[in-house]
Amino acid sequence: MKPLFRQVKPSVTMGLDQQARALAAAGRDVINLTAGEVDLPMPEAGKRAVERALAEDRTGYVPATGSSEVKAAVRKRMGWTEGEVLISAGAKPLLNAALACICGPGDEVILPVPCYTSYPEMVRLAGGEPILVPGDMERDHIVSPCAIESHITNRTKALLLNNPVNPTGAVYDRETLRGIVAVCEEHDLYLIADEVYRSFVYEEGFVSLYDIDGARERLILVNSASKAYAMAGLRLGYAVAPAPVARAMGGYLSHALGCPCSLSERAALAALTMDDAYEKGLTAVFRERRDRLCESLSRIKGWTVKKNAGAFYLWLDVSLWDDDVSFCQKLLDQEGVALTPGSAFCGPGYVRLAYGKDMEQLSEAARRIERFVEENYTSSSGVNL
Ligand code: PMP
Repeated sequence: MKPLFRQVKPSVTMGLDQQARALAAAGRDVINLTAGEVDLPMPEAGKRAVERALAEDRTGYVPATGSSEVKAAVRKRMGWTEGEVLISAGAKPLLNAALACICGPGDEVILPVPCYTSYPEMVRLAGGEPILVPGDMERDHIVSPCAIESHITNRTKALLLNNPVNPTGAVYDRETLRGIVAVCEEHDLYLIADEVYRSFVYEEGFVSLYDIDGARERLILVNSASKAYAMAGLRLGYAVAPAPVARAMGGYLSHALGCPCSLSERAALAALTMDDAYEKGLTAVFRERRDRLCESLSRIKGWTVKKNAGAFYLWLDVSLWDDDVSFCQKLLDQEGVALTPGSAFCGPGYVRLAYGKDMEQLSEAARRIERFVEENYTSSSGVNL
């Protein structure tokens, strides 16, 4: 085997999710808050579109980068007037295609951290080297343009920016995005943007990198139906990129994947051409969950639980109490609540709670976490009282 593949680690979040599922299958009462997944049903219009497509025998190949009517629907929905649109089997293949087309051996890609667990491995798989740039702890771990600039070398090819951020739930403001685009322009870097959580923004309006002056000519912007339409298992993502990059990515995808799933394309087309009531409903449900959960967890002595501005994750500091991995292991063993250690996101000392579960389960999880913290950390040890 190639040495590179001996080093590549499987997705930690997917591994923990499986561990929690296995415990539940063995009869344990487990509340699994590891997976970054929406628990609500996908849009009815999407379900009907899949049924119709099956009845019409739409089971053949579609074009390698997606059918033209799906591309047109994406363009209209996202307001993408320039660049080429690509459709593929989720955001992941599009991110991998972008990195494969940009990175040569030894090329560097800047990753603000904490970051999505797959990013460093994606960069390595593409032959590049991930350069981790820590976010500012005082600003929800948002990375400043200055911090990015100080990590640029003559090998740097791109910045990969996730907004809203998994795992911290932070949302970048327009001013910071402007500064980041200016740095990328100055050093002629590609800007790979992952906006899969853009429907989950709870406070002010979301600013896409697509709408920042000067970004489009170097921007590869990726989004997906996985979260916005609760269709993660159907695998449908989309991207926009400048024509030459899109051509290269299309070539890669045609060989690596063939084409998107014909049925998932129909589901996405139906979802993308609905009004925005579904997305608004989803955001409202997740806002309410966030508010109630934060209220419950804030009652835990010694814990400051800050509301996340976006995505559906709470990023909780456990560093005063324990190592993040043992905190999660003990919590799962003692209380049957599964969270993800921050180390999986290059953010040790923290744990990630994904609130893609109903309110009843979330309230029960909060009760168990409170009991766990009191029993293990705050009553007898006296730590952090
Ligand atoms: N990017 C981020 C930041 C994610 O959190 C995820 C899924 N958890 C993905 C990409 C993958 O999305 P998809 O299902 O569309 O491949």
